[in-house]
Amino acid sequence: MKRRKFLQNASLTGIGVAVGASVLAKNTTENFNTKTVTEATNTPAIFPIVITTWNIPNATNKAGELLDQGKSAIDAIEQGCMVEEKDPSNQTVGKGGRPDRDGNVTLDACIMDKNGNYGSVVYLQNIVHAISVARKVMEETPHVIMAGKGAEQFAVSEGFKRENLLTEESKKAWEKWIKTSNYQPIINIENHDTIGMLAIDKNGDISGGCTTSGLAYKMAGRVGDSPIIGSGLFIDNEIGGATATGLGEEVLKTVGSFLIVELMRQGKTPQQACEEAIHRIVSKPNSNYKNFQVGYIAINKKGETGYYSIHEHFSASIYKDGKNENYKSDFHNKS
Ligand code: ASP
Repeated sequence: MKRRKFLQNASLTGIGVAVGASVLAKNTTENFNTKTVTEATNTPAIFPIVITTWNIPNATNKAGELLDQGKSAIDAIEQGCMVEEKDPSNQTVGKGGRPDRDGNVTLDACIMDKNGNYGSVVYLQNIVHAISVARKVMEETPHVIMAGKGAEQFAVSEGFKRENLLTEESKKAWEKWIKTSNYQPIINIENHDTIGMLAIDKNGDISGGCTTSGLAYKMAGRVGDSPIIGSGLFIDNEIGGATATGLGEEVLKTVGSFLIVELMRQGKTPQQACEEAIHRIVSKPNSNYKNFQVGYIAINKKGETGYYSIHEHFSASIYKDGKNENYKSDFHNKS
């Protein structure tokens, strides 16, 4: 992953790394201290703002530009996520996503709006824009989650086109993998990539979304954290939002995104809340966290942001004041 700017936060504890994006831009390295954090807290937020998992400038810019034009956070989230879903070179979401062990690309996605409404699709096949189907579930049905064939039929009835999501590149990689079929239910720290996105629009309203093809070569039928409310994503327009990437099973077991929002409700900064959520995972008895990655991003109502992961190589992108920057995340496992 290309990273244009690094945030040095390794030595900070507790309150140390809760900063609004405008402050991040100014305090990327040595002059980061408690005083600037206080200033950050007291600086009125300038909206709009977008934060995403990973270095996905096209998607982050798309969402940010729509917000700059006055579009709602929910529209920006959907269209931002769609940028990655339709990009076949991104092998972790939408078209070109890596398949399950049977060679089927199956998508999980969810979206949540300022009113606490939520829609998701799980195990969706043959439809590129899982995030848009999730939005349709939220807005056009009395339900919140739709799965598999039913979700696909619903998408088609809403005008989505069926198409094969398995690209030649992903097919070749899968064919190579089946020669050994060496699947371990853990992930290499680089072998994952849910696109998670949180946005605050000009009205100060928050929405969020996430979309993924899940773990490569997962068992057929496996569902991860991403489409599950409170795990892969949670938004409370009074407080803030959070979303996750990494080994979904661990996020699910700790209901990570809901946890982060509730910690912010109790007064923690987004950064402190992300760190606490990672701490819950790594401090479990017999946790084998050295073998898997989880990363969180969060935003609060003031537009302050946070991000943290178990291992190095996680990053977050922030769009603010008309531009997108990518920031390396601090992480737990320094050994
Ligand atoms: N969290 C996703 C899942 O478990 C995968 C990922 O982020 O790579 O399905």
